[in-house]
Amino acid sequence: MAEFTMELNDEQKEVRDWLHGFAADVIRPAAAEWDEREETPWPIIQEAAKVGIYSLDFYAQQYFDPTGLGIPMAMEELFWGDAGIALSIVGTGLAAVGVLANGTEEQIGTWIPQMYGDANDVKVAAFCSSEPDAGSDVASMRTRAVYDEAKDEWVINGTKTWATNGGIANVHVVVASVDPELGSKGHASFIIPPNTPGLAQGQKFKKHGIRASHTAEVILDNVRVPGSCLLGGKEKLDERLARAREKAKKGGERVKNAAMATFEASRPAVGAMAVGTARAAYEVALDYARTREQFGRPIIDNQGVAFQLADMRTQIDAARLLVWRASWMAINGKPFTAAEGSMSKLFASETAKKVTAQAIQILGGNGYTREYPVERMHRDAAIYTIFEGTSEIQRLVISRTISGMPIR
Ligand SMILES: Cc1cc2nc3c(=O)[nH]c(=O)nc-3n(C[C@H](O)[C@H](O)[C@H](O)COP(=O)(O)OP(=O)(O)OC[C@H]3O[C@@H](n4cnc5c(N)ncnc54)[C@H](O)[C@@H]3O)c2cc1C
Repeated sequence: MAEFTMELNDEQKEVRDWLHGFAADVIRPAAAEWDEREETPWPIIQEAAKVGIYSLDFYAQQYFDPTGLGIPMAMEELFWGDAGIALSIVGTGLAAVGVLANGTEEQIGTWIPQMYGDANDVKVAAFCSSEPDAGSDVASMRTRAVYDEAKDEWVINGTKTWATNGGIANVHVVVASVDPELGSKGHASFIIPPNTPGLAQGQKFKKHGIRASHTAEVILDNVRVPGSCLLGGKEKLDERLARAREKAKKGGERVKNAAMATFEASRPAVGAMAVGTARAAYEVALDYARTREQFGRPIIDNQGVAFQLADMRTQIDAARLLVWRASWMAINGKPFTAAEGSMSKLFASETAKKVTAQAIQILGGNGYTREYPVERMHRDAAIYTIFEGTSEIQRLVISRTISGMPIR
């Protein structure tokens, strides 16, 4: 187990500086343009692929960093550059992690390269779980997957919504119910290969923030995929369903929810994205407060402004520490006895919303215009308290974990 440390090692510092350079030189200058265009920034993704940031290798290296700090550090730097563009770069990783966590070696080897494509022909992937009537309440998912034994195929029907890269992805990972009576324990994940008939993009959403990231509905109309597209394979699924049915029969027994444990491990990454956005806005505000003069002195000479900056910095640092602690716990398999993963996401996302609003206030009229980046950062920050579980759901998970109440 790696000792917990708050000092990045030399290799991590090198990666951080390299990512910061990409964020400052390539992402940040393009941020306003792609926010206005509300389109996937393909040329930037391609740049990221050319230098090796948009690749499974890079993602896996950070993911398996024994200190646990690889992913939070990478997320913070990229999202410091711009949240919408950074999500376009890391969104594929969401789907890739779904395959890495549940897929067989063969599935990992076949599908993950197709999710990324290559530097000359970049592709993206989408992870589709949310539905119009199943957002926070994942268990009420209606998308059904039915096995056609004669053809060894799965037939999938349903509507997914809010899917990052939905419809434009080369590979979609779709969560569907194979046994509705089991609620979330009757769910399974499927690969939908490129150009599969029956999969279509529905509405593309016009959003408040992260506008460079594509978010859309995905319609699945009698989509047929080979048996080999069930992540983990049929045998494993049948065993899992049999265990869940047995436990359901006994009734009342507390079942350890594996999906919940996965969320605890992935939520700090979203916390790190929020830290990146918050830090970006704080830096703009600090710089502005030092140089903007009113009443014959820099506005930071007023405690009303200086104390706001002190609070902003304190909260950002506290958020980062919670994120790093949870990330270290996740890589070392420590039990999240107080839902520390959810805690980090809750605090960091709320901090990003607050700090970006304070940044607008410190920039005054300029902060309210698109001439300065903080209004965009504030719009972007609002997503962190919504996706990967809303703030209310994080509080629900934390409160139920510390009180010993079951989490459904
Ligand atoms: C830009 C964007 C990108 C996304 N990307 C993806 C993606 O790639 N893949 C994917 O599958 N999903 C994605 N999502 C979906 C996202 O995870 C959901 O929006 C989120 O889980 C909330 O679900 P909902 O929108 O249906 O809200 P609802 O669940 O309807 O919640 C509405 C409100 O009620 C509150 N609420 C609900 N239940 C409770 C409760 N029990 N106690 C207290 N309050 C409660 C919520 O906190 C919220 O404030 C994305 C969403 C957005 C906006």
